[in-house]
Amino acid sequence: MLNKKSVDDINVKGKKVLVRCDFNVPLKDGKITDENRLVAALPTIKKLIADGGKVILCSHLGKPKGEPKPEMSLAPVAKRLSELLGQEVKFAADANVVGENAKAAVAAMKDGDVVLLENTRYRVEETKNGEAFSKELASLCDVFVNDAFGTAHRAHCSNVGVTEFVDTCAVGYLMQKEIDFLGNAVNNPKRPFVAILGGAKVADKLNVISNLLEKCDTLIIGGGMAYTFLKAKGLEVGTSLVDDTKIDYCKEMMDKAEKLGKKLLLPIDTTIAKAFPDPIDAEIEISVVKSDAIPADMMGLDIGTETAALYADAVKSAKTVVWNGPMGVFENPILAKGTIAVAKSLAETDATTIIGGGDSAAAVNQLGFGDKMTHISTGGGASLEFLEGKDLPGVVAADDKD
Ligand code: ATP
Repeated sequence: MLNKKSVDDINVKGKKVLVRCDFNVPLKDGKITDENRLVAALPTIKKLIADGGKVILCSHLGKPKGEPKPEMSLAPVAKRLSELLGQEVKFAADANVVGENAKAAVAAMKDGDVVLLENTRYRVEETKNGEAFSKELASLCDVFVNDAFGTAHRAHCSNVGVTEFVDTCAVGYLMQKEIDFLGNAVNNPKRPFVAILGGAKVADKLNVISNLLEKCDTLIIGGGMAYTFLKAKGLEVGTSLVDDTKIDYCKEMMDKAEKLGKKLLLPIDTTIAKAFPDPIDAEIEISVVKSDAIPADMMGLDIGTETAALYADAVKSAKTVVWNGPMGVFENPILAKGTIAVAKSLAETDATTIIGGGDSAAAVNQLGFGDKMTHISTGGGASLEFLEGKDLPGVVAADDKD
């Protein structure tokens, strides 16, 4: 269990509570296209309202790189949150984030009111964890709550710097839930524990592969990263995505698996095409070949049918499954079969199933399997760093339990 002060351990009645949320949601023409992160933030916000706090919400959205960009304003989030909460979330439109508008909005708050500040990344200091902006944020509140798991792997003003200047700093329910689910799955799993890693590059997941090998019983590799492993086994991989600088690393990991007596599953067959689809969802001619029969001029873009069945079988006998990264170029329906098969096997098992955010979370939700999973993390990068075994600065910065 997370040994940090939580919203259950603090008294916020009549106090100004600054809550760092993760409202970094996808927007299209000013409309939120996936509101999972908003929904996930509601329990903490509702609890603080019910306890009579003056709830000041803040978050980043996208990468405005230190200047106001209207298309990355949090205004649409305030509107949708008002609907979800059934009460007004007053938007403090302020290019400076903590400017006159924000200060006036906070000064006018009554107990149980909610204000949302503008995108914290409108300020160039935010991602540099600058002291001045951290102090400005702190000056708005009496208590700080961090519920932004998606940014917990970063040390920024609004989740880490601010804690230096506020006496009471707790974590919210979402943060607690994320750490409890991921932590239990990795450090105290019901076995067999199967970890599935996919996605584009081996280089992005070096430490995750190594750490999970130590913790799990079976490590399954798919997606673009599988081809560097296949090449490391001496196989021809054609024009597939390969990182030649990581061949030795893959060999090391295969040796490590053997020494530890862990199963490391690689694709036994693969879906190939002449080239990467352009545009990504273009009609494409494919065939499926054994992994040791990839022609030199062809590219592997998804796991094959036998591999999908093999991986689904491994999931079937598992008691805990953690999955991060798609099995192929799932943005193209023709190349999404492997990812769908794995998602389906997770949806059908009684095992504890944890999806590590990012593309795999998007894929599972798009496929309509979202509510069949035990937990879908709201943080791609943060969950990966957690799976690497790293401490997350956003969590470390909160007060320990008394
Ligand atoms: P995030 O970084 O958002 O958490 P992720 O960890 O789930 O995402 P990434 O490492 O970003 O995954 O990789 C996802 C991308 O990998 C997808 O866009 C997908 O098209 C691509 N991909 C999967 N398989 C292949 C392949 N065989 N060849 C090339 N690209 C692939």
